[in-house]
This record gives sequence, structure tokens and C-alpha cells, in this order.
Amino acid sequence: MKNIDHLPYIEEHGKALAGALLTWYQQNKRDLPWRKNHDPYRIWISEVMLQQTQVDTVIDYFNRFMVTFPTIEALAGADEEQVLKAWEGLGYYSRAKRLKQAAQVMMLDYDGAFPTTYAETLKLPGIGPYTAGAVMSIAYNLPVPAVDGNVLRVFSRVFNDDRDIGDMKTRKAFEHMAKALLPEDSRHFNQALMELGATICTPKNPRCEACPIHALCRAKASLRQKDLPVKKKRQKNIPLEMEVALVRHDHHTLIVKRSSEGLLADLWGFPIVKRDEALQDGMSIHDELEEFLGVKVKPTGEIKKAKHVFSHRTWHMTLYAFDIDHKVRPHFPQVEWIDLTKESDFPLPTAFKKLIVHM
Ligand code: SF4
Repeated sequence: MKNIDHLPYIEEHGKALAGALLTWYQQNKRDLPWRKNHDPYRIWISEVMLQQTQVDTVIDYFNRFMVTFPTIEALAGADEEQVLKAWEGLGYYSRAKRLKQAAQVMMLDYDGAFPTTYAETLKLPGIGPYTAGAVMSIAYNLPVPAVDGNVLRVFSRVFNDDRDIGDMKTRKAFEHMAKALLPEDSRHFNQALMELGATICTPKNPRCEACPIHALCRAKASLRQKDLPVKKKRQKNIPLEMEVALVRHDHHTLIVKRSSEGLLADLWGFPIVKRDEALQDGMSIHDELEEFLGVKVKPTGEIKKAKHVFSHRTWHMTLYAFDIDHKVRPHFPQVEWIDLTKESDFPLPTAFKKLIVHM
């Protein structure tokens, strides 16, 4: 069923569909900390955290974030490093940087308040159509759709639509359909759709028997639930062999600040380099380290292996230990010595945390 117009179906069944979803949501919604009120700041932070991260993980991060940065003003005035530290472990760190930038724009242009229109919200750094729609509908009940991955999946199935949900054109078409479906209570309707996708119409094994709209679901009627949604693979994930250095001196370990460009930009980590196939194991990081530090280092062997999967890259990391005679501090600020047994102020991403060994 390709490129069909679902609007006649929405016209005929849209009210029943929205009504069933709203009733179900009122009775089944999860009790989540960002649902305690309609504060746009809290909703915005939760929405950004929920992109790519499970609800169970987000809850603690969200509660801590609200204690550290309770207002837009507090976030705008914080050090970037402090914001990255609060984000440590959530991944996709550019999201955290953009939060702070958007908060600064709100301080300058909106007196420290969240904008009240969809168009203004969309102009803020890091905010796309989904986040703008979610915040504006949930906070102010504005009639705007919020189409995330959950909604794309639910729509593919309800309308038995096998267009590729990774395609921008499909997303636009689904936004159009979501708009046509929107009842007056957009605040709860948008949340109901997302909640259905997160808890009932899940990627694998949707629980159609518990679904409030199963009688209106076209995929269920034709037993195609498990064939949908269609998502074509785009970019391949590239595996990389990486060598990492654990440089120790006097119970302290060397960390370096990563460059402002590329993967894990501006975060801290152990020295790391892509393995040079022409060199013996461990020599790529050895040579890099001596060049970087300007002193001799003593390799003491391989100590750990770990893997970390990013969206387009997988690091297969081998950690090598090195001893050094003194705590070198080259004449630039990107080097620190930390005690790995204690909580540090430096945001260390999960990829590097996987390598921490206490020796
Ligand atoms: S009936 Fe099944 S496939 Fe259809 S929307 Fe409900 S859970 Fe999803």
C-alpha cells in the first residue's frame, strides 16, 4: 500500500481513534517526574533527554538536572563543562551544549522565559519540529503535532503504510496526518500517541490485544503488524580498532580534553588513537603518547578490551598501561591527572568509563 491518501480514513474514523486513545491515556499514563506540571522548561529538558535514551534511565538524570539547573537562568549561566558533567553517560553530548545555548537565547530574547509560539521555539538551537511540537502542545495545549519515532511506528501500523519512516517525505506526510487527527486536547493526545508507541505498540511484539485502537488498526486487520514500520538501512556502522592509554603516576591517571570537533567533542577521556595496521599492537598509542607528551613512557602491557557503539562508528578499544616518571603537564590546558577511585569534575563519556580499571 504505497503513497495513499489516508485523509478520508481519518475523516471517517479520526474522532473515534482520538477518543479511544485519550480515554486509554487517562487511565494508563505512567507517573513520570516531568508530568507533574506543565512547565515548558521541564518538558523541554525531558524531551531532549528522551531522544535516544530509555525512560527508566532518564528519570534519575532528569531529577538531578532539575536540582542542579532548576531554571532557564541557572542553565544559561552554568559552565559548559558543568552541563556536560550533568549529561555524563547520556551520550550525544552536542544536545547538552545546545540546551545551554538555547537557554542563553531565552535569557537574551525572552526575558528568561520559554517562547510561547511554535515558530519562535523552532528557532532555538537544538530544537526541531518534534521537540517544538511536544513542548508547545504539552505546555500550552497548542494545536501542533509531535511526531517522534513512536508515532511514526504507530501510524505506519494503524494506516498500514509501508513508506520508509526514515525518509523525510514520510515524516512530513505523517505530520500532516497527525495534524488532521489532532483533537482539541492536543496536550494529552500527543502524549497518548507516544505512550502507546512506548508501552503497547512496541517495535517487536506489539501487544495488540491490549491496544485501545486495535479495532481501527489496518495493519492488525491484515496481520501485518510485524512487517511494519519499514525502515531502510542508510549509513553503515563502521568498526574501528582503537588503542587507548592508561597512563599512571602516583595513583593518578592522565586524561585529555578532546577536540571541539567530531565524536565526543570537548569531553574528557584517556588518550586514544586509531590502530595503525603497519605497527605492532600497542605501538600506535605508544608513539602518539610520546609525541603528545614530549617525554618517554614505559609500556607495561595490555590490560583490558571494551567495545562502544556510536550511531555510525563502533570503537573496539584495547587499553594499554604506561608508566611515566613524573606528572607531565604540557604547556596547554587540555591535560589533567585524576584519581579514578573518586568522582571527578570532568565529564568522562561512557566509552571511557568502560575501560576504567582499579589497579
Ligand atoms: S493494534 Fe497492534 S499494531 Fe495496531 S496500533 Fe495497536 S498495538 Fe499497534
